[in-house]
Parts: sequence; structure tokens; C-alpha cells
Amino acid sequence: MVYFDNAATTKPYEEVLKTFNECGADEYFNPSASYSLSFNLYKKIGDIRKKFISILNGDVESDNIVFTSSATESNNLAIFGSCFNKEKKYLFSVGEHPAVYNCAMELKNKGYKVFFIPLQKNGQVDYDKLDNLCDNDVCFVSTMFVNNETGAINDLIRIRNIIDKKAKNCVFHVDGVQGFCKIPIDVTEARINLFSISAHKIHGLKGLGALYISKGTKLKNIIFGGGQEFGLRSGTINYPGIISFYKAAQTTCENMKKNFVKVTNLKNYLREQLVKLNKNKIRIVSDNECSPYINSLIFEGNRGETIMRFLDSKGILVGTGSACSSSKVGNRVLENMGFNKNQILGSIRISFSADNTKGEIDYFITCIDDYLKNINA
Ligand code: PLP
Repeated sequence: MVYFDNAATTKPYEEVLKTFNECGADEYFNPSASYSLSFNLYKKIGDIRKKFISILNGDVESDNIVFTSSATESNNLAIFGSCFNKEKKYLFSVGEHPAVYNCAMELKNKGYKVFFIPLQKNGQVDYDKLDNLCDNDVCFVSTMFVNNETGAINDLIRIRNIIDKKAKNCVFHVDGVQGFCKIPIDVTEARINLFSISAHKIHGLKGLGALYISKGTKLKNIIFGGGQEFGLRSGTINYPGIISFYKAAQTTCENMKKNFVKVTNLKNYLREQLVKLNKNKIRIVSDNECSPYINSLIFEGNRGETIMRFLDSKGILVGTGSACSSSKVGNRVLENMGFNKNQILGSIRISFSADNTKGEIDYFITCIDDYLKNINA
């Protein structure tokens, strides 16, 4: 099997599974209980919070991490936990994953003043339009780090600088899922208040996420219960999951540079091969500025869905539409970048991990070549 859908999810590392199993079997105590064994687990979780903050280049002494069930939950907590003043304005990039976009729509439906920041042709946030939208009433801005469909990387420092010119004390939330441990991030430099991450995109397990919270950022809980995670996320703490999440983050982060070089080589190789093959107007949406991990391609005049199924029959798994959204309705991201309906219909997404190889790309190219020859025969 050739797995080219790593933006949807990744294969867990062996050591992640081992860590989860061992902690789950041996250290199954509730970390919030009062006996010493539980206290030790709670202390370990505290150390791991600091390690996550450190990976993000936050302040380990004063910033915080809240563990959640997913980046979807982290995004919900960041948004619904911050947005409660109907007099203020809330800005969201239009290219957001449904885990943010649908929260924005929910706020809008409830009567909040929600505005969407358009994208540029290259898939990044339109910085000038953001500038136009900003004023002193804006209290919350949410833009992702790396787009899950195109790999477009937003310039977060530039975004924060634009916000700060006009909107004082504005909370800046970033959905960091597709960049975390793959592209360096400095939450302190970009003055990010809230940063969402997910374990299963970095070879961790599904059902594990976290939200980074910078010092002084006010947040209300959206889940009510026993008051775990500083009252922000009630529910028995998933100790084995958190320890395994850190294992995934540590391993991926240690190899960040090496993986980036490897995946960039794969991306360049894929592009070269596609250019050679380009008999049927294959468009490479993701340019050189994009994350090498995510490559959006358009096969003009073809249907991405059909190509995906053909590749599936050859043992190659690729993505179409949004990474992990279960119901797909059009493609808001590509549409906003200026692609027409037909082009969007012909889109597929190849997303790499450092485990992929040039040989797999060769096989993919051979299959695509066959497919295009057959449909045009
Ligand atoms: N945000 C982005 C950018 C994503 O790509 C995804 C999943 O594809 C999510 C959020 C949701 O993450 P999770 O599956 O942890 O809820």
C-alpha cells in the first residue's frame, strides 16, 4: 500500500503504541486522585505540559497547555471560550478547516459580528484585506498556520503585526495542526494567544489534542464537570494518551529538520515527474512556498473523486477535499483562491510523511499516466 494521505492522519510510531500500552496497563490510576501514585502521574503530566510549551517556544513558567480529545475540541474551546461579547468583531480566515470554520458559522448564526478574511491566489490569508477588516472593535482573530488542503503557510508574525496596529488586546488563535512538529513555530515571537494541536497528524494516536494558552489569555470552559485541566476541560485525564502524545511530538520534533529536507526532496521529485507527464493539464496548486508535506493537484477536465478511486484500486491512498471532514461540500479553500468549479472537481491531495519514498512516487506517476492514457484513448 502507498499511503499519500498523511494530512488526514498518520501511522502511529511503534514507540507511541508501546508507551500507550505500558502506561495504560501499569499506571492506570486516576491522575486526579489523592494517593501518591496518582500524584506522581499528575506531576509527570505537569512536566509534559512544559515540554509541549517548550516545543512551541512559549514561556514554560507562565504559559499553559490544556489537553483535549482532538484539535477540533481545542478549536471549539479556543473560539467559544473566548467569544462572548456580541458588540465586538470576530475575524476568521475563510480557508479554515471545518473545525474552525463551522464554529465561526455557529457564532454568526447566534448573532455575533463575524467577518471572514479572504485568501490570496497562493492560498495564504490576504494580508491587505485583513488590514482593512481590522479596527479597535476586533477582539478575536483566527487564522491557521498551514492549510490542510494546499499546504499554504500563513505568515503569523505579519498577521499579528497587522492586528496590533489597529486592534488592541486582540486574542490571536492559530489552528496549528498541520504545521506542528513539521515547520518551526515560535508562539512568543508571533504573540499567539491560543494554538491548537493534534496527536494523530504527527504519528500519535487519534482522539488526542491540546490547546496552548499564553499567560494572561482569558478563556471560559465549554465543558462542565469535575474541573480537571484548570477547570477548562473536565473529564478524567487521559494519562496514557498524553504520555504517548508527547512521545510522538518528541520524536517528530527531534527529526523536524531531517524530515523537512526529505519531504521537500519528495515534493520536488513529484513536481518534476508531473511536469514531464503534463499531457493533460495537470496543475500544481501548492507552490514552493507551501509546506512540502501537502500537495494539491488539479487534473483539469477530470474528476478528482474518480482518480482517487482508480488509485485506490491500485493500492495508492490519496485525499480529495478536506483532510478529515466526513461530509464534503464543494471546496471553500480552492474556490476562494480563484479556481472554478471544474478545476475544483479535478483536485486531489497528495500528503507526505517522512516514510514515503521516491519509488512510491514513481508508482503513482505510472498509475496516473495509465489513467490519463485510458480515459483519453
Ligand atoms: N485543523 C486542521 C487544520 C486539520 O487538518 C484537522 C484535521 O484534518 C483538524 C483541525 C481536526 O483535527 P482532529 O482530527 O484532531 O480533530
